[in-house]
Amino acid sequence: MAETPRPLVAGNWKMNGLRGSAAELTKIMSGAGEVAARTDLMVCPPATLLATFASLAQGTPVAVGAQDCHAEASGAFTGDLSAEMLRDAGAVAVIVGHSERRQYHRETDTEVNAKARAAWRAGLMAIVCVGETKDQRVDGKTLDVVHVQTQTSLPDGATAANLVVAYEPVWAIGTGLTPTPADVAAVHGFIRRHLETRYGAAGRQIRILYGGSVKPSNAVELMQVPNVDGALVGGASLKADDFLGIARAYL
Ligand code: PEP
Repeated sequence: MAETPRPLVAGNWKMNGLRGSAAELTKIMSGAGEVAARTDLMVCPPATLLATFASLAQGTPVAVGAQDCHAEASGAFTGDLSAEMLRDAGAVAVIVGHSERRQYHRETDTEVNAKARAAWRAGLMAIVCVGETKDQRVDGKTLDVVHVQTQTSLPDGATAANLVVAYEPVWAIGTGLTPTPADVAAVHGFIRRHLETRYGAAGRQIRILYGGSVKPSNAVELMQVPNVDGALVGGASLKADDFLGIARAYL
C-alpha cells in the first residue's frame, strides 16, 4: 500500500497580526520540535508580515505562506501582489480560492485556477480551497459543488510538491460547527478519487487538508479521518498553544 502523505498543519491568520505578533511565531517555532518531526507546519500571516516572518523562520521547521496572489507577474494592478513578490518576500506557498476571497471578492473557479498557475510559475505551492455553503449542503449538493470546484479550480499538471487541496465547508469556517467525521470522509474520499483520476500516482500523494473550526479539542477526531492529511486552521492558528495543540494530533 502506498504511504500516506506527510501531514501539513497550516495557519491562516487572515487579516490579523501586527509586527508585535512575531512573538507568537517565535512561540510556535520554539514549541515546534516534537510535532515538526511528524508534521509540516506553516504560518500564513498577512502580506505585511511575510518578509519579517520568513526571515525569523528561516532554518526552522516552520514554513511561511501567503493568503492570496494576483494571476499576473507584474503590472498595473493597484493594491495587488503577484506570486513572484510573495516568493521574493520569503513565502513558499500561497492559499488561493479561500471562501472569503470567493465570497467578498467574487473570485471564480477560473480565476482561482489562474492564481494557482501563477503560484507555480513563481515556484510556490498552491493551497487551493474548496467547499460548499450551508444551503448547498442542505440541498444535498455538496459533492456536485466540490466536483465543479476541483475540476475547474485545479490546474493540470499538479504534483504533491506543488499542490495542496483544502476542503473547507463555508458554514464551518469561524462558526464552531464541524461536519461529522463521516461527512468529512465522504468529501475527502471524493476529492482523493478526483486527484487520482486526474493526476495518477501523484494524486495519491497530494495532501487534502480539512479546514473549518479545527481546534485542539476536535483535531484528533478530524485528523484521523481517512484522506485527511492535515488541517488549514483559521482562528485557532493565532495562538501558538492552540496551533501546536492541533499539530499534536499527529503525535
Ligand atoms: C479558514 O478560514 O481557513 C478557517 C479554517 O477558519 P477557522 O479555523 O477559524 O474556521
